[in-house]
This record gives sequence, C-alpha cells and structure tokens, in this order.
Amino acid sequence: MSDNKNSETLEFQTETKKLLDLMIHSLYQNKEIFLRELVSNASDAIDKRHFESLTNHEIGLPEDEYAIVIDANEKEMTLTISDNGIGMNKEDLIANLGTIAKSGTQEFITKLQDNKDSKATPELIGQFGVGFYSSFMVSDRVVVVTRKAGDDAAYRWESKGDGTFTISDSEKDAAGTEIKMYLNKKNDDSDDDYTSDWLIRSAIKKYSDFIAYPIKLVVPVEPADDAKDEKDKKNEGETKKPQDEQKTRLETLNAQKTIWSRNPKNVTEDEYTEFYKHISRDWEAPAKVIHFSAEGLLDYQVLLFIPKQAPFDLFLPEKRHGINLYAKKIFIMDDCKELIPDYLRFVKGVVDCADISLNISRESVQQNRQISQIRSRLIKKILDTMNDMKNDDLETYTEVWGHFGKVIKEGLYGDAENKDRLKELVLFNTSTNPDTLSSFSDYVSRMKTGQDSIYYLTGESIKNLQNSPHLESLAKKEYEVIFFTDAVDEFVLQNIADYDDKTLKSAGKGELDVTEDDDQKKALEEKAEKHASLLEFLKDKLDEHIKEVRVTSRLTSSAACLVTDENMMAAHVEKMLRQNDQSIPKQKRILEINPDHELIEKMQSMFDTDRANRKLTDFAELLYGQAALMEGIDLPNPHKFASIISSLMSDAVIQAPADAS
Ligand code: ADP
Ligand code: MG
Repeated sequence: MSDNKNSETLEFQTETKKLLDLMIHSLYQNKEIFLRELVSNASDAIDKRHFESLTNHEIGLPEDEYAIVIDANEKEMTLTISDNGIGMNKEDLIANLGTIAKSGTQEFITKLQDNKDSKATPELIGQFGVGFYSSFMVSDRVVVVTRKAGDDAAYRWESKGDGTFTISDSEKDAAGTEIKMYLNKKNDDSDDDYTSDWLIRSAIKKYSDFIAYPIKLVVPVEPADDAKDEKDKKNEGETKKPQDEQKTRLETLNAQKTIWSRNPKNVTEDEYTEFYKHISRDWEAPAKVIHFSAEGLLDYQVLLFIPKQAPFDLFLPEKRHGINLYAKKIFIMDDCKELIPDYLRFVKGVVDCADISLNISRESVQQNRQISQIRSRLIKKILDTMNDMKNDDLETYTEVWGHFGKVIKEGLYGDAENKDRLKELVLFNTSTNPDTLSSFSDYVSRMKTGQDSIYYLTGESIKNLQNSPHLESLAKKEYEVIFFTDAVDEFVLQNIADYDDKTLKSAGKGELDVTEDDDQKKALEEKAEKHASLLEFLKDKLDEHIKEVRVTSRLTSSAACLVTDENMMAAHVEKMLRQNDQSIPKQKRILEINPDHELIEKMQSMFDTDRANRKLTDFAELLYGQAALMEGIDLPNPHKFASIISSLMSDAVIQAPADAS
C-alpha cells in the first residue's frame, strides 16, 4: 500500500514461504478450521492482555467487555475478525507474522508432505503453532491492523501470501487486533462461502464453543428486530457503527462453557472430547478424562486429560505445560508449570481455584502454598488414574506408555515422594517375554522359587540384550531379566533400589553371584586359584583396557565378558555421552572369564607349558576383543584384531586342508 506512510516490504522467512505455498495450493479439506485458528489467536490475545493487566492495571478492560467480533461482508467477499486483546507493535508483527521461524513450521511441512491423507492434515495446523497462516487457505489477501495495549501507535500488516508482506503505520481507536480476509473468488465447484451466516455459526459451534470470551457475529437488523434493537444494544455493549445505512447488532455464538465447573454426571463424553481438542489442539480424543472437585480448606475444580499421542515438541526445551489456571471461571494463566511437575507435562487441562487471588502473578505463583497443595493432589490423582488404567485397560495404557513412558520415568529420579506410585507404572520387555510389556508386579509374580532379586540389563536395543553373555547363567536358571533400552533408564535405575522388598540387580554390573550353595562357591574359589597365573598374565597384557580380571559363574557358553562396576555408567550410555562430549574419559571395565570354558583351559595349559608363547598375547587380545564387541564397545584396534584372526584362520587351514575330492 504505497499511499501509506512508512511502508516497508519484507520477505517471509523461507520456511514460512514454503508453508504458505502449501496452505494455498495443497489443502482442500476442512478449510473452515481457519476460523478456529483465528478465533483461538484472538482468545489467546485477550488472555494475555487480561493476565498482564493483573499487574499493570492501566491496560485492563472490565471483565465483561472482552470479546471477539466476526463481521462478514457478502458483497465485498470479506471476513473480519477483531479482538480487544493484547495487540502487536511493529516488532511483534514482524516476528510473529513473518520473519522468525517457529519451531513447529518445518515439522508441520514435513508432516504435511509425508501425509497423503490430505483430509486429516489441516487439523494439525493448530498443534504446530502456524494457525495464523491458515487464513491464506481461503483468502487472496489478508490485512491485519493492530495496536498494542498501552501503546498509541497502530500498524497495518498486509500480504497476498506470495512471499512478501508489507508493514506500514496505521490508526486504530482502541487496543487489539483486526484481521480482514479478502476471500478467494468462489470456484464453481466450491460450496464454501465463508461469509455465510450458517457456515460461520456451525464452525464456531463446532470448534470454539468453549472459548471463554463471547464470540459475536455482526448481523443485520431485520425491520422486525428494530423494536428490540435498543434493548440488545444495552445487553451486548457497544455495537459496530454500520458502514452503510444497514443497521446491525451483535449476536453471541458460543456458549462459553466452563465444563470443569459442571457435575461430571452431566457432561457427555463428546463434550469432554471437544473441550479437550479445544485446549490441546489434538485432533484425537484423549485416552483418559480426570474430572473432580475438592472442597474443604481449599475449594477447587479440576478437569484433566491424558492424551493418546505425544505432541511434536514433547522433548523441546521450550515445551509448554498443559495446565491452565482459573479463579472462579476467570482465566489467570496458561502453561502453569507450578501445578504440574515436568514429568507430567503432557497432561492437559484446567484447574479452577476459588481461593486464588485474581492478582496473582507468575512470580507469586511459585511461592503460593495453595498452588503447591493442589499440585500434590493432582500428581497423586494422575498417577493413581494411570495405574487404574494399566489394570483395567492395558491396551490404551500401553499406548500412553509408549508415548510418555520416557517422560514419566523422569519422575523416578525427581519425585521421591511418589516413587512407589511411579514404579507401578513402568512397563518393560524381558528376556522371557521379549515381545510383550510387563510391569514390576508381573515380574514378581513370575519369579522362581529361590530367586530373591529382580534382574535387569540396560542396553541399546532388545535385540542386543537378547544376545548378551550376561544372561547366560540366569537363563540357565530360568530367571527372567528385564531389558531397559531408554537412554534415561541408566539414571532412573540408580534411583530404584528395590520393588516389593526385592533388590534390583544389574546382570551386567558388579559381581553376579549365582552360585547356589557353599560347595559351588568353594568350587569357584578353587578355579580362581587354579587360573591365578593366567589371570595375572591377562591383566598384565590388557592393562590398558581393563581394571581387573576375575573368574565368574555368570557365563555358561561364552569364554569371557566385560562387566561394568556397580557405580559406573553402562557401556552404551558412556558411548552416547561421548558422542556429545569427546572429553568424557573411557572407563576401564572388568574382564570376567568362564573357568569352565575349553578355551580358558587350553590357554592355561599353553601358559603352563611356555609362558613366552607369542600366541598367548594374541589370544589375550582376542579374548578382550570378543568381550568388547558383545558389550557394544568399539575395538581399541580393529586392524590388529582382524590380522590376528586372519593369521589364526590360515594356521587352521594349513593344519586341516580342505577336502579336495
Ligand atoms: P500460535 O497461536 O500457535 O502461536 P499462530 O500462527 O496462530 O501460532 O500465531 C502466531 C503468533 O501471532 C501468535 O503467537 C501471536 O503472538 C501472534 N498473533 C496472532 N494473532 C494475534 C492476535 N489476534 N492478537 C495478537 N497477537 C496475535
Ligand atoms: Mg494460533
């Protein structure tokens, strides 16, 4: 708009360009969700203004004046959505609507390109924080006029979605934002007219009924309405000035339902689902609804949802928590981190506490005793509900665990108070049940007579662990071994010493004593003595790689294995950490040898015959190499390892030439 003063044309950020292109050319279904997105932005903006006004009284409005107004003009083919929310200054406009890529943008593009089912895709828009751009699904041109609460200056943002946008100075009577869409000319085959009264009403009912502020539609006053027009004006506050002679009034479209304050008996499953979708931006129903109220010293109502699937940003540092705080139905803040620990950050919902002061700020929430009381109640309630779910509906719980198990496990090293509850929730695969998930209580119910510990192994994958030499003697006794394969498990396990009074023992760390009686113990000691000279020789040769050599009863078929000390990191974790930080030193492990293995016997006799035999050094090297490979540790010198094997192979061929017949 060149006639505007201070006009500046800027380029969209590259990802945003791609996104706009997709919005305009690839999304055909469910286009009406742009209404949901713009209304939800308007509602967020009002939330923000309201929240800031709690500490900055200058910028607030009376509670009942906050509103969102939709104005459709059929003749001009325009649709305008206005709000009296926080508004934007010039920097906000540039950052929010154009130049700074949001973390979700690329993710959304990828998802869109992956997903051939274009029917479902527009539903995703909200989750990825790209909702504003959905306006371009239905418009040739979008104009935003906005004024930030507390500022006098207003700005106009305009784009045709073609790669650039223009920002110029503008004027606006009051703080807030007005978004005007110049709708696409209708195709013959399209029946979507977004200026249609009916379409707007049904879309708002469907997607935005729960918005806490009134969403008002500008409707013409029919001659018959004239009489009651004056009365409506009073009820609805100031109406928009009619542009032509046509008189208009405002009609509220949404019920502004606060379903958390209703009796759970009177809320239908559909209502829960729609409300959940509204607050979570999820497009699937939740796995579980938790709805209760507490009375007594502290009065509050709680409506929580456990999602079925993880949002894309679950592990991003800027990930928001899902609980909104209200006081007597008045919105206080979203993302209330004080109400829910990090490890339950995937839970969505509302807490409405009548005793919270409306003037509470983010800072004072942190020290608020009532908030921390509610928090402990929420945690217990959520964990108990999940445990019930595990017992009553394992299938759904397994799905939830699949998405959030890693997050929930964080609680095991952060939340000592709820450790016992958390232990019940953990699911895992095991050596005897590698394909199904079990819990600790399942494990305990299957323990063998005489078994008094719970055995586990940590590693990169179930497949690796299934082949681990550490399983050998336990498998022979038919003891079940838990497989833990999440990166966090190593840290989690340091914080679970026991379950049901049974100690948790790593099958890959420390000494594993599987001798059954004193006789066996004595026999092992005798073997250690018998091989003492060989052990000393091995320790000497492998000093660079290992801290100790000892005989073990752990192995039945392998000749040797590497064992991590009780207080050391497992090999796969050490490897993972070193990938990020080269300075992490390599830890020396313990080489355990199987005294009953033929190879050990033979090495012992070689040693006894000629301790200077060069082969012994090679064998020591190979013994260590095999053990390292089985443990997933890189060979110190793969080249040398290969050349020793090659020479052993050619020796073997010379001794036993292939049958030439
Ligand atoms: P999200 O709402 O997930 O952040 P959107 O693409 O819908 O993503 O909006 C981008 C940003 O633009 C918002 O975060 C907000 O800062 C700003 N914005 C959009 N609409 C409005 C509005 N009506 N009032 C004030 N700011 C808005
Ligand atoms: Mg949005």
